Amino acid sequence: MSMSTRCRACLYKKRKACPVGCVFAPVFPGFEHVQRFGIISDVFHEKKLERWILTTDPRDLPMLLDSLEYEARARLENPITGSSGQVRRLTEENQKLRQDMERLTAEIVTLREITAKQRQEQHHEQVWSV
Ligand SMILES: [Zn+2]
Repeated sequence: MSMSTRCRACLYKKRKACPVGCVFAPVFPGFEHVQRFGIISDVFHEKKLERWILTTDPRDLPMLLDSLEYEARARLENPITGSSGQVRRLTEENQKLRQDMERLTAEIVTLREITAKQRQEQHHEQVWSV
């Protein structure tokens, strides 16, 4: 196998060639996959990645890689909280937005009641001024 036929994982690992039956070859084929493999393998051990690829239904491989890349990026960004920190932050934001929405809905109800009352009073005044 020549240098140019290395898959992007083996290229990243600076192997001279893909080993026979390279697990990564079908999963990291394109040039853009060099960085992707790098990010994933920085966080997850290569043997583990190999096992996950082998035990995953090929139809689910794109989803596996997407989630591993997401997890790996989150872990590199914040080694302490990783993606659970992002989930926690989004949950808190969601909770705050729900509270804002409840408060604004209550304000709308109050404003509608005030407007309705004012209209009633205006109508009442018009009736009596005739
Ligand atoms: Zn390879």
